[in-house]
Amino acid sequence: MKFADLHLHTQFSDGTFTPEELAGHGARLGFAALALTDHDSVEGCARMAAACAAAGIEFIVGAELTAEHDHTEVHILGYFLDTQNQTLLTEIARFQAVRQQRIREMVARLNKLNVPLGVESVFALANCKSPGRPHVARALVKAGLVASLDEAFERFLKKNRPAWVPKARMSALEGIDLIHQAGGLAVMAHPGLNRTDDVIPALVDAGLDGIECFHTKHSTVMAERYLEIADRFHLLVTGGSDCHGFSKGKPLIGGVKLPYEHVEKMKQAVAAKKSATTDAHR
Ligand SMILES: [Zn+2]
Ligand SMILES: [Zn+2]
Repeated sequence: MKFADLHLHTQFSDGTFTPEELAGHGARLGFAALALTDHDSVEGCARMAAACAAAGIEFIVGAELTAEHDHTEVHILGYFLDTQNQTLLTEIARFQAVRQQRIREMVARLNKLNVPLGVESVFALANCKSPGRPHVARALVKAGLVASLDEAFERFLKKNRPAWVPKARMSALEGIDLIHQAGGLAVMAHPGLNRTDDVIPALVDAGLDGIECFHTKHSTVMAERYLEIADRFHLLVTGGSDCHGFSKGKPLIGGVKLPYEHVEKMKQAVAAKKSATTDAHR
């Protein structure tokens, strides 16, 4: 039986593993295919592709876009993206600038609260173009300003806490379009996490290709519910661990094993889209 994990993060966003470490864990766990889905970034894909090739693992290019629909935060996964696509790269650069500005605002709020964190220490620790809240939390711990990541979020960074800054997000429909024009498949990430079921029909109308049924934080009941929704709307089924590194002493990768047949269906869908565009251009 072949398995895949299609939801993974590295140091190119807020994960703690390098692409090489992640591919190493994937190989040890016997995965046939892995996809990298860093937040608003495809920067790590080249290194991940090389690391997977060296480990004999099939690699799928991906990214996870932060978006919203009707004021609900929705994460859209893009798979089989063309990482040279100019529109995709331009838009990603724009999202990354927004993320960097949000970090500056969070640090400014912390400074006003007499928490002497330097913004450069956050950027140095993040060391990537897609910094996020976890990097601010880690920088606070590293500077000895809080005792733990939990304390950083509870006291300052959680929604509606004093250093929290709302996220500017693209619309989910724009996200789906962006993924499509870069040749990819658009998949709704972890619908069970943000209670986003209400927005599924609108995303399907906008051309959503798939739904992440299997996820670390989905119960068996949730997975069954989303499998049923996938069936009803004729959506592809995906799954992944959403690994950001170690969790309780173990790498999170390995906890979700998507049967490889779903990867095959995704590849058929991409091929069908490609031939449809070629036909249209003839
Ligand atoms: Zn997500
Ligand atoms: Zn994720």
